[in-house]
Amino acid sequence: MISKAKHILQDTFGFLEFRKPQEEIIQAVLDGKDCLTIMPTGGGKSICFQIPALIKEGLGLVVSPLIALMKDQVDALRLHGIEAAFINSTQSPQEQAQILQDAKVGRIKLLYCAPERLIGGSQPLLHWLKECTVNLFAIDEAHCISQWGHDFRPEYLDLQQITQAFPEVPIMALTATADQLTRKDIQEKLGLRNPKIFISSFNRGNIRYTIEPKSQSYARLIDFLHQHQNDSGIVYCLSRKSVEDTAEKLKNDGFNALPYHAGLPQEIRKKHQDSFQKDDIQLMVATIAFGMGIDKSNVRFVVHMDLPKNIESYYQETGRAGRDGLPGEALLFYSSNDVRKLQSFIQVEGNPQQSRIQEKKLQQMTDFCEREACRRKYLLNYFGESFPDYCGNCDYCLRTFELIDATENAQKALSAVVRLNENYGMNHVIDFLKGSRSKKIPEWQKKLKTYGIGDHMTKENWQAFFRQLLKDDVLVQNGQDMPILGLTEKSWDILKGKKTYQIKHDKGKEERSDTRNGHMENELFEKLRTTRRKLAEKEQVPPFVVLSDASLTELASYLPQNSHELLGLSGFGKVKVEKYGEDFLRVITAYCLEKQLRTRMHYKQRRNFTNPRKVTDTKKESFDLYQEGKTIEEIANIRSLTANTILTHLAAYVGQGTIPLSRFVDQKTEKLIAKAIAE
Ligand code: ADP
Ligand code: ZN
Repeated sequence: MISKAKHILQDTFGFLEFRKPQEEIIQAVLDGKDCLTIMPTGGGKSICFQIPALIKEGLGLVVSPLIALMKDQVDALRLHGIEAAFINSTQSPQEQAQILQDAKVGRIKLLYCAPERLIGGSQPLLHWLKECTVNLFAIDEAHCISQWGHDFRPEYLDLQQITQAFPEVPIMALTATADQLTRKDIQEKLGLRNPKIFISSFNRGNIRYTIEPKSQSYARLIDFLHQHQNDSGIVYCLSRKSVEDTAEKLKNDGFNALPYHAGLPQEIRKKHQDSFQKDDIQLMVATIAFGMGIDKSNVRFVVHMDLPKNIESYYQETGRAGRDGLPGEALLFYSSNDVRKLQSFIQVEGNPQQSRIQEKKLQQMTDFCEREACRRKYLLNYFGESFPDYCGNCDYCLRTFELIDATENAQKALSAVVRLNENYGMNHVIDFLKGSRSKKIPEWQKKLKTYGIGDHMTKENWQAFFRQLLKDDVLVQNGQDMPILGLTEKSWDILKGKKTYQIKHDKGKEERSDTRNGHMENELFEKLRTTRRKLAEKEQVPPFVVLSDASLTELASYLPQNSHELLGLSGFGKVKVEKYGEDFLRVITAYCLEKQLRTRMHYKQRRNFTNPRKVTDTKKESFDLYQEGKTIEEIANIRSLTANTILTHLAAYVGQGTIPLSRFVDQKTEKLIAKAIAE
């Protein structure tokens, strides 16, 4: 059975491999078991119920809360050649009757509906389904059944009728909500029978988390957007007014942006959301009202102009980036002013207990922004998952530090504290160090030798420096009403010159290698994007439903030349190749002819990576090409790198003895080198 599942995965959906728990989940359902699947957004939940529904006789029924999303999902399935339909109140009675008829005679494999249509009303679908063969029930967004979750929907509670009506049909509950209480609630309320539980990691490895100070944030936003031209993204603001202002400013600055917030009329909201969904505009400037109901897989970045209220919201909102698995960016502008603003905002009137919970959550959000540590680790720990200290894809992990000696400044600071008899707070000590003329500094202090020895640094820099000294336990703060600086054992070591004091200096962030990777033909990517848009318009579906950005990237990287090669790329099942293959191939072959390029499918087959942007073993890649007999120049060309870089890659293999040195230098030189090494 599972080999059949794999066959469908590859043939119909065009994916090469299952992601982590997908296969096990499918197996469990095929074995007739109830399951609870907890997987982050973009993790790939849909396939888990779609594939078993296709394998088994009869139809799979999918309960989903949002009518708006159903159409996209069904359209996407149909484009894969799968017989799918949805049934809801927006359809005429005749239409609905036709769908039911189709379902009964087995012309539909997947049927979507909202919970109120399944259970409620005068003709509940559940009742009628008795006449069909139902092979599974999939309850999407299952957390809606729980009051503990963030999106309780009372009509979900009625879903407990399913087990009574269909005791022999497996139920799958799926959600992206992590917390324990909700999980337990889902199991109980749905009446799952000894369910198998699958919990995936909440790590969204392709999302890069970055936090920047909120000063001149609009200017920084423009910089950022310039780096993401043509990419689709969401810019979140706290208030409706700032949404409108920001969208307006962006438009004036030449960006394709529209506003979205709950204060706009329904039809405007819908229009703006559609434009975004269809890639007619690139930027949606929105309050958090924009969220539920967007299922756009090629959102490349999410920017928070203001601080979110808690980690849950931040995680959920940033999670809308990169659902297709390609790199996504999450940028947040942080200021402690925002924390103060939110403090009053989050109070729940007449409920001190809830208010305290919200305050604690805000505090954790602040911690997250201020802490000097890996962002991802913090997020995952927050959700109860462990993670190493280094993720390699957040602003902290990408920062490069150098240690600089700060002993002299430390000695100045500490001796000021000593001279002032460990009797003053930080600001006074700094004024003293800077030789302030203020009356607050008594005359006797102005006569001390240390007075004014710190005038080379600004007040702000001294403050940061003192905070660092406190963090490193070189100073402590004592005192009841007013914090007073005091010395520690470490201070004396530094003062006496027994120990040096070093601080980390931020050398700036490492450059992110080109977001779409050196392999990709950017110009071709844009051409393919246009083709996709045209096809999407013809089919009246959003572009990413026709083909994901991930597939587009593969096309523009591997340059397939025929439909056989197309089948080797992610996202191309048989039906898609038949339907759109020619349209895309025409663009690619014309481009290759013009630029004198050939297929690069050999990369794909050899390495079997689904995402060319993920290549990390760059040395090995050069080495493999070298083994194929390519020259350094050829490799450099293929890889869009310099010959020098390729040489350094190969040097590593020379060093480990895999490539003989004699390939690069003559015998005499080789001997000289050997001698030099020996010496
Ligand atoms: P979720 O419902 O968990 O948010 P989806 O089911 O919408 O996620 O899947 C997210 C994206 O991942 C979709 O673009 C989907 O086509 C893709 N995807 C799912 N499974 C695989 C797989 N095994 N290989 C490659 N891509 C996959
Ligand atoms: Zn990190």
